[in-house]
Amino acid sequence: MAFESLTDKLQNVFRNLRGKGRLTESDVKTAMKEVKMALLEADVNFKVVKQFIKAVQERAIGADVMNGLNPGQMVIKIVNDELIKLMGSETTEIALRPGNEVTVIMMVGLQGAGKTTTTAKIAGKLKEKGRKPLLAACDVYRPAAITQLQLNGEKQGVEVFSMGDKQKPVDIAKAAIEHAKKNNFNVVILDTAGRLHIDEDMMQELTDIKDAIQVDQTILVVDAMTGQDAVNVSESFHEKVGIDGVVLTKLDGDTRGGAALSIKAISGKPILYVGMGEKLSDLEQFYPDRMASRILGMGDVMSLIEKAESSIDQEKAKEMEQKFKKAQFGFDDYLESMNQMKKMGGIGNVLSMFPGMSGKMQDIEGAIDEKDLARKEAIIYSMTPKERTNPDLINPSRKARIAKGAGLPIIEVNRFIKQFDQARKMMKQVPGMMGKKSRKHGGF
Ligand code: GDP
Repeated sequence: MAFESLTDKLQNVFRNLRGKGRLTESDVKTAMKEVKMALLEADVNFKVVKQFIKAVQERAIGADVMNGLNPGQMVIKIVNDELIKLMGSETTEIALRPGNEVTVIMMVGLQGAGKTTTTAKIAGKLKEKGRKPLLAACDVYRPAAITQLQLNGEKQGVEVFSMGDKQKPVDIAKAAIEHAKKNNFNVVILDTAGRLHIDEDMMQELTDIKDAIQVDQTILVVDAMTGQDAVNVSESFHEKVGIDGVVLTKLDGDTRGGAALSIKAISGKPILYVGMGEKLSDLEQFYPDRMASRILGMGDVMSLIEKAESSIDQEKAKEMEQKFKKAQFGFDDYLESMNQMKKMGGIGNVLSMFPGMSGKMQDIEGAIDEKDLARKEAIIYSMTPKERTNPDLINPSRKARIAKGAGLPIIEVNRFIKQFDQARKMMKQVPGMMGKKSRKHGGF
């Protein structure tokens, strides 16, 4: 997970400040030296680090401590504010033309950055928003690029326009736009060719496309794992081709994460999305404020809530809410809620977004025994359908039968059923806790 070691280091710095009743100038300076080291080690561009530290220091020394905060917390607040500023403050959406007018998006980037994958991921996001995207295979050089786009398009349920690898990318782009207009598509995403390094031919080809057709948005895909290089690549592409925004891929694999903090400051262009894995669903909108609180180890409750909202089937949630209200929650529903949890990426993933949890993930993964969940599943599967919907039926002899079926000691069956009963009692007392309203407003 990105930023793990940066988060650890920053938390150490803040821990030392927290104990202090008053902060002297030298306390702030010492802390800032450590923050500076931590940022450099996270591969944040040194110019960015310098400016950042200067801004924080100026504000922290001589700042009036706000009501309700101690001086250490005040420094955290200032660091948080400045991190958000650094990453661009606002969330930037891909600008789309209204209604059925065709928006043309050109995806650019070096080979291996994740451009083809991201093209399909973005198509999926646009589809979710009710758009009708068409992908255009303009990478005619990399062997298999067209097939890869077609396979990904198929997985996303999005049509791919291709003319093989013998035509010029400009002509393919023009033909794709014509095809889109005739067939009611309202977004065309051009998957262009990358090269291993910045290269004049590639830049020329992209400029030719931009000269020949009206490209509305040029989106650069860069690999977070390349750290400073990702930042340099953004700067070059912006100078030569002109970009509107950046998608930072492989943030799941990069433990340093410096690129996320430097791109906006250096290239002037915002990060639109971050790639968090190889699956086509692993693309997250970029929120500077949430990223800042993730970096500071304050968790990311907002992202968690959103993830929950998109993964949980709203119909099922409603159905469950009704059951909660009437206290009809049975074991089948328990299984269903475990499945929802799995859809959200497993317990480890969900917990890492809670405040104070990041950095301690190894301990947590160990403590939460996924095998224990499997045993609970085995217990439920050994119940009859009637027992599952009506847990009150389960008497001692039924428990013995269930334990035998699950191949587990009866004590474990007893423990689980007791926990389940307690949870049911709690639900009765909190009706409406799965209600839409409470989730929308962050009432977790
Ligand atoms: P292209 O040459 O830029 O079109 O790159 P591809 O789309 O073929 O991606 C290169 C490799 O990076 C593939 O193995 C992708 O699965 C992988 N990849 C792309 N995005 C991500 C991401 O966000 N996280 C991880 N872990 N892998 C990614």
